[in-house]
Amino acid sequence: MRKLTAYLVIALFFGVICLPAFIVLIDFSPMEQAEGGETPQKVYEQREPEPGELTVNVWHHRDRELREMPLEEYVAGVVAAEMPASFEVEALKAQAVIARTYTLAQTLISGGRGCDHHPSADICTSEQHCQAWMSREEALSKWSSQQQDQYWNKIVSAVQDTRDIVVSYQGQPVDAVFHSTCGGHTDNSEEVWSASSPYLKGVECSYCSHSPWSKKETTYTLREFSNLLSRFPQATPVTTSRGPSFLSVDRSSTERLKTLQVNNVTLTGHELRSLLNLPSTRVSWKVHNNNIIFTTRGFGHGVGLCQYGADGMAKQGYTYEEILKHYYQGVEITPLKRPAS
Ligand SMILES: [Zn+2]
Ligand SMILES: [Zn+2]
Repeated sequence: MRKLTAYLVIALFFGVICLPAFIVLIDFSPMEQAEGGETPQKVYEQREPEPGELTVNVWHHRDRELREMPLEEYVAGVVAAEMPASFEVEALKAQAVIARTYTLAQTLISGGRGCDHHPSADICTSEQHCQAWMSREEALSKWSSQQQDQYWNKIVSAVQDTRDIVVSYQGQPVDAVFHSTCGGHTDNSEEVWSASSPYLKGVECSYCSHSPWSKKETTYTLREFSNLLSRFPQATPVTTSRGPSFLSVDRSSTERLKTLQVNNVTLTGHELRSLLNLPSTRVSWKVHNNNIIFTTRGFGHGVGLCQYGADGMAKQGYTYEEILKHYYQGVEITPLKRPAS
């Protein structure tokens, strides 16, 4: 999902073989707010796209059906699926903008790679692959009857108020990666994936301490830990009489675990996270009696926007533009140019 390599592919398409038709359709250069005025709320319910409206071909993985949807209707469903509706409106706006940015970067008409699981689709609704999405009915079903109108209206407002707005860097849509909670500091992209990016740089985040994943403890018995490590054939057993021996630990500048050697096994931070089902790679541990206790900070890969941090910034009065410019360094928040009608 949202692999950084997509940025390079997108950059290639945008920079080298950008179609003239696309130049007419979408222009990421800064310009005045697109016209259009207030959009009736009903446009966020299932409907046919209007002539000239930007659309996206979405593969709905549960219904196994390809549907062409108005972009803004699709973005509302992404916000509903990707961020708690209880969050502040400015945080929801930030999520709407990055959902739109990610979607446009992925669409085939704009030179994106589309959804490579479904060749005719721009994007799919599987959060394991492209971007989570849910219908209005699904969103309403997860909220109480008191919350339903308030929450859906918040999402619709966030999408309407940012209509056509995207995050760009040097005229190109950014790779709008995000995560739930950074735990105090986001990370450079190259310290999590292989490629570096000028705008995916680690920044201080003192805004996500209200996240339930700000600090978490996960406890395994030494025997359980031993059993998990034994999936690696070269592992020496961990016994209850002798604790695990951590030979070397390599961390990023923001304390994320890069690699460690434990009982003859060398694991990356991601492998340890996956093996132990930990929320993040910002992890430390201690052995106590027959247990090993892992303490993690944050939830997710830690690159790009921190969602709980966005909510925390919004609570302190920051706007969605300020939030986005904090988590994506040196970017511009720009409206798309609508196609001439
Ligand atoms: Zn997909
Ligand atoms: Zn954070």
